Amino acid sequence: MSQLGSLLQELELVSAATRDMPPVVSPAVDSQLIQVRLGAAAGLFAALRCKHPPSAGHSLRVALVCSAWAQAMQLPDDECDVIELAALLHDVGVVGVPEIILQKPGPLDPEESALMDRARRMSLDILQQFCRSSRLLEIVENVGARYDGCLSKHPRKGDEIPLGARMITIVEAFDAMTTEHVYRPARSHERALAELFECAGTQFDPELVQSFANFHQSCPSDWRCTGAQRWLRSLDPAQADAHWSLNPAPRPVAPQEDALFQSKLLENMYDAVLFIDSAGVIKQWNRGAERLTGIPAASIRQCRWNPELLSMADERGHLITEADCPVNGAIRSGVQSLRRLTISGRSGRAVAVDTHAIPVMSPEGATLGAILLFHDASSEITLEQRCQNLHNKATKDPLTQAANRAEFDRVFEMFVAAHQQQSVPCALIMCDIDRFKSVNDTYGHQAGDEAIKSLAALLKSSCRPGDLVARYGGEEFVLLCADCDNAAAARRAEEIRQALERIPQPQMGGKTISASFGVTEIQPGDSPETMLRRADRALLTAKANGRNQVVQLGSGPMETESGGKRSFFWPFQSIKPKELVEQTLYTPVPLKIAVEKLRGFVADHRATILQADGNKVQLQIEEIRPGGFRRLTDRPATFQMQIIFEEYRRGKTPDDSGVTRTRMHVSMAVRKNRDRRRSDLSDKARDMLTSFRSYLMASTEEDAVVESERKPWRFFPWMSKKG
Ligand code: GH3
Ligand code: MG
Ligand code: MG
Repeated sequence: MSQLGSLLQELELVSAATRDMPPVVSPAVDSQLIQVRLGAAAGLFAALRCKHPPSAGHSLRVALVCSAWAQAMQLPDDECDVIELAALLHDVGVVGVPEIILQKPGPLDPEESALMDRARRMSLDILQQFCRSSRLLEIVENVGARYDGCLSKHPRKGDEIPLGARMITIVEAFDAMTTEHVYRPARSHERALAELFECAGTQFDPELVQSFANFHQSCPSDWRCTGAQRWLRSLDPAQADAHWSLNPAPRPVAPQEDALFQSKLLENMYDAVLFIDSAGVIKQWNRGAERLTGIPAASIRQCRWNPELLSMADERGHLITEADCPVNGAIRSGVQSLRRLTISGRSGRAVAVDTHAIPVMSPEGATLGAILLFHDASSEITLEQRCQNLHNKATKDPLTQAANRAEFDRVFEMFVAAHQQQSVPCALIMCDIDRFKSVNDTYGHQAGDEAIKSLAALLKSSCRPGDLVARYGGEEFVLLCADCDNAAAARRAEEIRQALERIPQPQMGGKTISASFGVTEIQPGDSPETMLRRADRALLTAKANGRNQVVQLGSGPMETESGGKRSFFWPFQSIKPKELVEQTLYTPVPLKIAVEKLRGFVADHRATILQADGNKVQLQIEEIRPGGFRRLTDRPATFQMQIIFEEYRRGKTPDDSGVTRTRMHVSMAVRKNRDRRRSDLSDKARDMLTSFRSYLMASTEEDAVVESERKPWRFFPWMSKKG
């Protein structure tokens, strides 16, 4: 009794001196207190103190405060007992957490947080070995449960959570907030209480938060003392071990039919399956594993697992270390992983395997080990490679590795549609090596091939994101220029032209080659076909004008009548039922030049001139669709277009005799429309007329023509001659 008296005296002194409880009064006093309260389980508490003294100090403080609070609430003695014991032992699972995590000053990563979460499960697992009180276990299991039940690992909510667990949750939060940590400084009691109220109703039981605040207010300095007095004065030392006795281990279950099925499945699986226990010992090595690795099960079962056993390596060939081994990761964190790795196969060669590591836990949450599953992925890799090769064959030109014609046709259609949809300019450069026949004739086909390759390489090197280089045929290439107008494309073509002239061709004795370039930009009403033809016409013009030069054709996007905004679309509203389209258009050029422009339109649309009589021209235009017409109802429509030209003069003012311009009355009808929807045909006719307008630089309003004289249309071919 005199010993107890001096212990209490020591405690009273410390409690009076400070309200903030230090982790220990003195190790001796704390040890005695714990022995009195825990009996034989004090050894467990000592293990926690050895592993992580701050966790032991926290548990003791939480237990003493809970004890004092439970007494203030006048809870029955047996309730106080289980609350105190649960509070002292709720964190013993910390013994299973690596020091590096416990001492980490910064925030924990998801794997480390998962390990910390598992510490509580481990506390329960340890206590289940020898604790007789299911109430105590239930409290430990539910410490940390949120009052609103929002945590998946704690499905209980509100009063379903045992009272002791709700109390410990509040006190441990309060203690954590008011204690100095490596990762966070201590807060004042007032701030900690305010935080408890902040989370009352969600994280904490609101009534208990209020009760704790009242208790805190009324009991300013003797928390530790009140708790310790109960332990030292009222507990019967003979009863200290009342809650502990060794729980019998579950008896091994006789093999069931299920187990037989499972072992048959395991032995006959094609994939390799390994079981590795928590100590890293290999417990299972099925036939699939023998087949894949060439290592017999008998020689490896009971050995320690190590990734070096199979020369495991990542996709870059770096050997997997113990630290980043998927098995150890699964055991450490309790989280599954799936990775493509290589292992040494039965022939000694590396085999690609999809590696699945699965942690195995007991129903109580203790880690028993991991399953490692290897799926031979070499056939999938070969298949992936073969698909890639086939794709390359289908889309690339074998000589230059540029896109082939089929790929160009496919991409070009999407390219034009995408740029039209977004009202963004795009351009097409078409080029052809000059007098290439003579290269072949003089230096041989091998030299010719090398020259083609060097032009392809040059074109590829001048590509920007979104561009495409394709070999259109023989020594002819196309370059699709995304988000690029006529002027920029012509500049780029000119740079390529000049660069090609500077490249010596080794197989031609260091001589150089030249090429001619046709450039055009998308314009209103364009289809891929018309754009391509315009570029081709520009290229032919470059050849006709003496080769080794860039010729640009086409106007690019036009100004609209209303706002001067760039647009590819024609703003028609109504279309007459008989003629699909009828319009009067004005162009600011004399009739002679208008007819020249019409020639470009006729050539690019492959139109047939049915009649050219005085000032009246009749054209027939077949609808063109890249990729052909697959269905019957897709049959091409045939449009007939009549244009009546009329030249006239008009000045800017009524007195001004002005300049010569041309007025055109255009009407368009469809000849074959049996299977086509009218709206579809109207769209086609509208596109055709929009294209006509851009070729002829025409507008629906005469004033727009006068206006245009101040801002000249870009209708003459832009040329850049050599030199
Ligand atoms: P131009 O300046 O008018 O283009 O004259 P050209 O001699 O280049 O005339 P053309 O374009 O008609 O000739 C193309 C020649 O390119 C014909 C063909 O023998 C040759 N050719 C086409 N494909 C290849 C190829 O893959 N390798 C080689 N070496 N020659 C090719
Ligand atoms: Mg050529
Ligand atoms: Mg050619």
